[in-house]
Amino acid sequence: MITKQPILVAGPCAAETREQVLATAHAVSALRMRTLFRAGIWKPRTSPDTFQGIGSEGLPWLHAVQTETGLPAITEVATPDQLHEALDAGLRGIWIGARTGADPIAVQHIADALKQAPTKPEVVLVKNPVNEDAELWIGNIRRIQSALPTQTELIAVHRGCNHHPCWRMAYALRQALPDIPMLLDPSHISGDAAKVATLVTKAAALGYDGWMIEVHPTPTQALSDSRQQITPEQLAHILTGLQDLTAPEDTTILWLRAQIDEVDERLWSTLVERLDIVRRIGEYKQENGLDPYQPERYHAMMAERLEWGKQNGLPEETVRLILNAVHEASVQLQRH
Ligand code: PEP
Ligand code: MN
Repeated sequence: MITKQPILVAGPCAAETREQVLATAHAVSALRMRTLFRAGIWKPRTSPDTFQGIGSEGLPWLHAVQTETGLPAITEVATPDQLHEALDAGLRGIWIGARTGADPIAVQHIADALKQAPTKPEVVLVKNPVNEDAELWIGNIRRIQSALPTQTELIAVHRGCNHHPCWRMAYALRQALPDIPMLLDPSHISGDAAKVATLVTKAAALGYDGWMIEVHPTPTQALSDSRQQITPEQLAHILTGLQDLTAPEDTTILWLRAQIDEVDERLWSTLVERLDIVRRIGEYKQENGLDPYQPERYHAMMAERLEWGKQNGLPEETVRLILNAVHEASVQLQRH
């Protein structure tokens, strides 16, 4: 069993008021874990009509978090100007967000600015890019790493893609950069406060080095990501339940099963989509006096799918088994 001191990054999606920031920081500082406080001030929002973040006005609030609680405070920077402002305000760390991560030129600009900055951050977190691209994530980490002295701690944050975990991408990062700590961000992976606890537990079993979790005193009133934020009390409850949980030394099978579960989830929704069309075809056949089993169509489908299988190196027997099961289930559905 591996027992290590986990890293917790907790705080609101966005800094909204000085009171909200400090109340959340004091609450999470009571958790007695290695904790970093997070709050976005320049928010990369999809729509210009939503809250874009408090901007530079929030920097002194984050600085107050550091002096009042002793926790390092970190914020997302997307440009060299934002990086300089954050460092000049005395923030001890920064993170690169998923949208910035999709653009290697933007990441390189931040890396160049880090290289030139007279004061270096203590810690830099790099989230996975919004698109499922392990190579780009690895490349971004290497760009940042080569700009920083070894004293700066570099941490990867797995936040998934489009509300899917994309475990395969996280596993690829783990294998490529085993010495970089990796945290799981259940808030952005799920977009759902009710799913945070399960994901936190799963990450612990998979041997993650900790979590980045969005915490807000009153999540329903949050100005951004209100559905996924949890209260400090809920966070304390989730973490207490984890106390005895440690990852086994060899997590390979758990990682592979996480990937299988995710693929099956997609497969199942694709099957549901297929069966929906099957039902409509069934209605057509009934209206036109056709039998649900149409041999010509069956043989044509089989020939085509066998060819797809061949192109992907699948044995003929495997393709036959799968298509026969799907086809039989479909014909049966049309007979009912
Ligand atoms: C965030 O952490 O609030 C954020 C904007 O995350 P991401 O870049 O993962 O979407
Ligand atoms: Mn957020």
